Amino acid sequence: MNDVRAWQYSVKYSRRKTIGIYVSAESGVEVRVPHFVSRREADDFVASKQEWIEKQLANFASRPARFEPCFQWGEAFYFLGEKQVFHWQDVAGVDLVLSGKADDPTDKIEAMVQRWFRQQALTLFTERHDWWRSQMGSLLDLPQSTLQQRSMKRRWGTCRRNGKIILNSNLARYPLNCVDVVIVHELCHLLEFNHSRRFYHLMDQVMPDWKQHDEMLNRLSLLY
Ligand SMILES: [Zn+2]
Repeated sequence: MNDVRAWQYSVKYSRRKTIGIYVSAESGVEVRVPHFVSRREADDFVASKQEWIEKQLANFASRPARFEPCFQWGEAFYFLGEKQVFHWQDVAGVDLVLSGKADDPTDKIEAMVQRWFRQQALTLFTERHDWWRSQMGSLLDLPQSTLQQRSMKRRWGTCRRNGKIILNSNLARYPLNCVDVVIVHELCHLLEFNHSRRFYHLMDQVMPDWKQHDEMLNRLSLLY
């Protein structure tokens, strides 16, 4: 049986005990197989899951591609939910002029953009942190906190017991309400160091529509 399929898959042998199929937008279909399983058995397994695999692939195809910035003059990146077109010269449609040259290589342009972004992000985070602290301070006795930013893969922010709040610098890509909901979340951890009912009660008190903002951030983070 040799169907002609519109998709191919890669087989990867590993120390696992069962066969697993992984479908992602980035790597396509990947089959992870234990060493004792033959290639033929792996192929049969994939064939038996064809319908499921094709459904997954169709899901990825119908979803709009995630925006990835490209570091050439005249391209754009997101800041506070808006596209910022950057260029070395101030021409029509440009939002941000960086002090570079026409023939700068992409890695140099990327470094310039990142520097601008991280500076702006820290200024923004600091402003919002201080503003929300003053709002919350009138209702609650809030312990001290300090703020840092870092590029993180899996989370938007963390709060340590010593009051150190670390925000993911990528958060500054999204609209202000998305930035705010993460800052409020971390500030609430200064009083409730967990995700208990008391914690969410506090969130409701400080930012009654926090759930909407959380959902928006989740949705937008799939797009850019
Ligand atoms: Zn939390």
